[in-house]
Amino acid sequence: MIPLVNLKKQFETIEDELLVEMRRVLKSGQYILGPKVEELERRIAEKLGVDFAVAVANGTDALTLTLDAYGIGKGDEVITTPFSFFATSEAITRVGATPVFVDVDPQTFNLSPENIKEKITQATKAILPVHLFGQSADMDEINRIAQENGLVVIEDACQAFGAEYKGEPVGSLGDAACFSFFPTKNLGTMGDGGIVITSDPVIAEKVRTLRVHGSRTKYYHEQIGYNSRLDELHAAILLICLDHIDGWNRKRRLHGERYREELFQLKHIQVPKPSLNVQHVYHLFCIKSDHRKKITEYLDSRNIQTGVYYPCCLHLQEVYKDLGYVKGDFPVAEMLSQTLFAIPLDPFISVDDQDEVIQALRESEEVV
Ligand SMILES: *Cc1c(COP(=O)(O)O)cnc(C)c1O
Repeated sequence: MIPLVNLKKQFETIEDELLVEMRRVLKSGQYILGPKVEELERRIAEKLGVDFAVAVANGTDALTLTLDAYGIGKGDEVITTPFSFFATSEAITRVGATPVFVDVDPQTFNLSPENIKEKITQATKAILPVHLFGQSADMDEINRIAQENGLVVIEDACQAFGAEYKGEPVGSLGDAACFSFFPTKNLGTMGDGGIVITSDPVIAEKVRTLRVHGSRTKYYHEQIGYNSRLDELHAAILLICLDHIDGWNRKRRLHGERYREELFQLKHIQVPKPSLNVQHVYHLFCIKSDHRKKITEYLDSRNIQTGVYYPCCLHLQEVYKDLGYVKGDFPVAEMLSQTLFAIPLDPFISVDDQDEVIQALRESEEVV
């Protein structure tokens, strides 16, 4: 089977470094929010050119604690995309605010800025764009709209560590940004983790307080917070991955470009076309086709794994029934949910395996 992502291979390539550092953590006697976490926060802030990075337990918490730190809650609205992983809107709902969805762009699959303005009300507090599949959203336009309307911009950069927009790293483009270190993410650990990025000292301090039960002095609590801390073991693993991430992302881009070149002439599928001015880091390589079911079944019969991201838009999720959205509200997002599928891509896929995927996709023209 050619897997969608080969995580085992990723960690095996750095096994020796990992074992040394994991033993070091074992011997340190400090296992949560210690020197490794501090080093990771410093190094990520430096790499992104921002002032603060605050590590938390996962990407969902990064979003939740950031929204909470901005005081966003009951009665507030946050504008976001209906085409993302559920955690994006879940965090908004979790703090008591209401997600307000806006359709996406058919080329980039990201929040379409021209649709944002008409959704802004007195209750709107923030825009939460997602850099889907490793490609930055149109941040200049989003920031301009936010500035004109006094809104906060929080980037959901969970899928896009290392991606760039006009030469600037994602994560440095809004008021705050959130990354996930879930294993499959471009920068991932062997477990859960996440981080909040901001250059606002007040927000950084609030997230630091929220992640340890709303406490600044141990056993004294100013507010209701969370238990959302990063482990030393994960920070140690991530520090090693951080040394490799630029090389890994370079390989992802090479593999993505190879697919694009080899597949663009096929009529029954459409390959993604990255926008100008961005550096796409291909968290996932998603192809569009009206024949998704037949093609993915054919690839499966050839032992090639595929994945559907995402089969159900956020506005049509059962849990959001009460928000009153119906099928047809966001035609682009809904079309993407019916037509997109991901094919194997990670930094480690071999030329032979990529050839096999390309060949199988060519042959699949016969089955549609
Ligand atoms: C993975 C992901 C999250 C959530 O991150 P976890 O670490 O799994 O909690 C949020 N938003 C997007 C777009 C993601 O891909």
